[in-house]
Amino acid sequence: MATVTTLRFDNAFVRELPGDPNPDPWPRQVHGALYSRVMPTPVAAPRLIAHSAEVADLLGFAAEDIRSEEFARVFGGNALLEGMEPYSANYGGHQFGHWAGQLGDGRAITLGEVINSAGERWELQLKGAGLTPYSRTADGRAVLRSSVREFLCSEAMHHLRVPTTRALSLVGTGERVMRDMFYDGRPAPEPGAIVCRVAPSFIRFGNFELPASRRDAALLNSLIDFTIRRDFSELVSGAEGDAQRLRAAWFEEVCARTAVMVAGWMRVGFVHGVMNTDNMSILGLTIDYGPYGWIDNFDPEWTPNTTDAMGRRYRFGAQEQVAYWNLGRLAQALVPAFDSVDPLQAGLQRYVDDLTTLTRGTAASKFGLRECEDGDLELMQGLHVLLARAEVDMTIFFRNLADVPLDAPTVEALREAFYDPEKLRVEAAAFDEWLARYAARVRRDGMPGAERRARMNSANPRYVLRNYLAQQAIDRAAAGDDSGIAELLEVLRRPYDEQPGAEAYAQRRPDWARHRAGCSMLSCSS
Ligand code: AMP
Ligand code: MG
Repeated sequence: MATVTTLRFDNAFVRELPGDPNPDPWPRQVHGALYSRVMPTPVAAPRLIAHSAEVADLLGFAAEDIRSEEFARVFGGNALLEGMEPYSANYGGHQFGHWAGQLGDGRAITLGEVINSAGERWELQLKGAGLTPYSRTADGRAVLRSSVREFLCSEAMHHLRVPTTRALSLVGTGERVMRDMFYDGRPAPEPGAIVCRVAPSFIRFGNFELPASRRDAALLNSLIDFTIRRDFSELVSGAEGDAQRLRAAWFEEVCARTAVMVAGWMRVGFVHGVMNTDNMSILGLTIDYGPYGWIDNFDPEWTPNTTDAMGRRYRFGAQEQVAYWNLGRLAQALVPAFDSVDPLQAGLQRYVDDLTTLTRGTAASKFGLRECEDGDLELMQGLHVLLARAEVDMTIFFRNLADVPLDAPTVEALREAFYDPEKLRVEAAAFDEWLARYAARVRRDGMPGAERRARMNSANPRYVLRNYLAQQAIDRAAAGDDSGIAELLEVLRRPYDEQPGAEAYAQRRPDWARHRAGCSMLSCSS
């Protein structure tokens, strides 16, 4: 790989922070260390299935590098590039509301931190690369279906302008992985795969929670100072010499970024599915795409995660509150590093305030209004009630709302968004009434029509990664045809543009997908 040999690595995490002196890969409790060095376990036959051209560009890979055999070997875990220093991070987390102790990267291995030609830092991390000291009783591997989903959704979210980790590559391992997909005691072999994820940092809330839970203040303080220095360097100027002020500004920034991320999810209809604190990025990036899902029919109660089907802790409509709860757990972990809890409380308040502002902004942009008045929030809430009651597709409804004739608004123009014609018939009058109020509001706002439509179309995507679309690409890949992945990625690169010929990707969820595994519900077994 000609260009690749010039990739510049600067592995600050392992250089500056204390690591585990024990080189064994066997599962264990690791104390006094923030990571363990571990090599990816080679796979039988690494083969590049898909890649993101944008991420490859960002890192400085040339087209011929990507096509080379070495690329698949490196990103399948069979070879290292010069400068790579693999490790797995040690972290804990609150899972489903309960402290779970040490978790760590059980199947993720960071290869190194690239500094690209623009001077940006990008950490490269393999997911599914084999056993680590944090694998506990699991196998360190990932299956093709979940890897396709992580690869596609990382990129889809980026193009939707929702903060997220990225994905460089999807490599098939040529090996089988046993998974009990339905938790019915009948595990079956599935094709294995490895995604290379890319982000400035993969540090999670749980990285801070673990040393705090062990009362290791020294380790906690080193991680805080490192994170601020490496990942929040813009905060440092102005706060030199005042560590407490700097830490306060940092926590507040984490809260602000988390608000932006969650507001983005709510705008586009994304449900993370496993918002445990070990799955919350300190950079406010969407991270760890597992049993996530996209709202088809608008339903705040919906969760894609079968493991969460009873409690519905991570349902669509609860995500804002859960993120707040998670920030509370982070704040609690940080207490020993602060002289007073006031800055932590101020940070949490910042989340609440920002989320309020962002929610208003979302309403204004989804409705195509210059600004959000208090009444517009009521208009939005009223619409949410109707959308849920009448089983209406969120994406299609908002996208097509821009084209409803305002002089004679009628729900007929939005027929395509309804899943059940009978519910449309029953609720038509209520929708017409709502549309009349909406049309009056738009007229009062006075934004020129073309401008209004452009504003709406940049907030209301035409194309999202509907669960069944991902599943179709997975089914094709499992049958030996990878092209569905690249085709889908191509459409998802421009989610706000009308793409003639791509109509099939913008349709309601078909009936067959309603109850099919992978399309309407997903397990954590990935
Ligand atoms: P998740 O819910 O996917 O974020 O995973 C929670 C924890 O389980 C993390 O510590 C993961 O690294 C670990 N984990 C999940 N799947 C596996 C696997 N197949 N092998 C090893 N560790 C895993
Ligand atoms: Mg995780």
